Amino acid sequence: MHYVAITGGVISGLGKGTITSSLAHLLVNSGLQVSALKIDPYLNYDAGTMNPYQHGEVFVLDDGSEVDLDLGNYERFIDRNLSGDNNITTGKVYREVIEKERRGEYLGNTVQIIPHITNEIKKRIRKVALQDKDDVLLIEVGGTVGDIESMPFLEALREMKREEPDSTFLFCHVTMIPEIGQSMEQKTKPTQHSVSALRSIGIQPDIIFARSKNPLSIESRKKISLFTDVPEEGIISINDVPNVYFLPHIMHEQGLAGYVVQRLGLSNGSFKDMWTGIRNNLSAPRDEVTIALVGKYTELTDAYFSHKEAFTHVTGMTGVKTAIKWVNSDLLKSSTEMLEGVHGVLIPGGFGYRGVEGKVVAARYARENKVPFLGICMGFQVAVIEFARNVLGLKGANSSEFDNSTADPVIDLLPEQEGVSDKGGTMRLGSRKVIIEDGTEAMSIYGQKEIFERHRHRFEVNPKYIKRLTESGMKFSGKDEEGIRMEILELNDRHNFIASQYHAEFKSRPLKPAYLYMHLVMNATKYKRGERN
Ligand code: GLN
Repeated sequence: MHYVAITGGVISGLGKGTITSSLAHLLVNSGLQVSALKIDPYLNYDAGTMNPYQHGEVFVLDDGSEVDLDLGNYERFIDRNLSGDNNITTGKVYREVIEKERRGEYLGNTVQIIPHITNEIKKRIRKVALQDKDDVLLIEVGGTVGDIESMPFLEALREMKREEPDSTFLFCHVTMIPEIGQSMEQKTKPTQHSVSALRSIGIQPDIIFARSKNPLSIESRKKISLFTDVPEEGIISINDVPNVYFLPHIMHEQGLAGYVVQRLGLSNGSFKDMWTGIRNNLSAPRDEVTIALVGKYTELTDAYFSHKEAFTHVTGMTGVKTAIKWVNSDLLKSSTEMLEGVHGVLIPGGFGYRGVEGKVVAARYARENKVPFLGICMGFQVAVIEFARNVLGLKGANSSEFDNSTADPVIDLLPEQEGVSDKGGTMRLGSRKVIIEDGTEAMSIYGQKEIFERHRHRFEVNPKYIKRLTESGMKFSGKDEEGIRMEILELNDRHNFIASQYHAEFKSRPLKPAYLYMHLVMNATKYKRGERN
């Protein structure tokens, strides 16, 4: 087994997750079996209860784990489904250790950070490495060196390097190279400080990812090498790129894959670049559409990270670029002006009542003006509420999530959610089978009867209203295996109005863009040309 740990220095937000994902991509496409693991040094057990405003979107895996959005990056860059074990948090580690202590498993010993917490960390990392017999496991440590929270993790990794056979464990450090003054001179001092902080806890990096605006100069590279003892081949320039999907290419041009493989003593084929076509389309799109993304977290667009990625995947595959118009749903309550001129409307997932009425306005606007529409999760539920209010005439129709005493709860709690009070990890989560009905728009999109998609919800279409909704022109073209849960809706007289209870965005990959996003963008191009259906 081989390990590559990636730590961060200087400041956060340097793109450590993308760098880790890109390295993983290089190794996978050099013929190795690679997995990636994220360490989040916070006390939350998982990302499920975290506000997207603080941490960006909560990503959902097939097994139902609610994880950091970096796991989404790993999946997209290595095209592989990961599990909840690939996200280690302080919360998970401490919970396990405390439970063991309560069971008396430490036999009367004093339980301490070293060795009990560090041993638990190492055990979890090795478990992930061994379960799939991967060639290389990448371990990304959240935060920056010097954070109190990440100390036990860095100590565990230091110990692991000692314990594993020689040349099977590499440390990478991501730092920042500021460019200052008129001449934009590259400054290596923050990197020197950051590496000495790392060395003071016993970690010598083998590779440095130097994040800068412009490519690293020969001089900067030499200087970093001199002060950090990292050979020049191990210093990789991570300069600004038009899009994250260009990063593996930039790294490859600097010989990174070969260097890592050689340092780890592995043998592999040469790197096969699968993304040339994608890069071409991203850098020179042949068409562009504007899609309104109507949500309540529009000031922090990372809250909708996977949606943005899904649109990028569509561009990479088709050459049609999506300009996302971020529309704060609260603003739609008074006027639909923000939606005028857009070629499509996307209402993504969400929780809580704030912003919902504006989303209802957006769904109505798309339905009445025949603007291509995609609703995801809460967007699906909003489409049902809007239709019930304005087509069925049930003026007070609502979800019982927003109004417990509504006369018409067209969206209601899933029966198995009755009595559930814990918020963490208790929704209907993860991959579930969806059965698609023949002769529907959904069937023409997916072309197969059974699909698996990821879920994250507590509420659903209330079965009591299905007959009435159906009779008035709403078709439920996808259902769960028992046929009792509505999964996809469309309108009888429309090709371009569709919504899913599941999160199609989570499984979108560069070479396999999510079908519903492809459908939305293709319909948006038609709409732009004046074809309305
Ligand atoms: N709040 C809704 C529910 O729990 C929708 C969830 C979502 O959009 N992810 O069912």
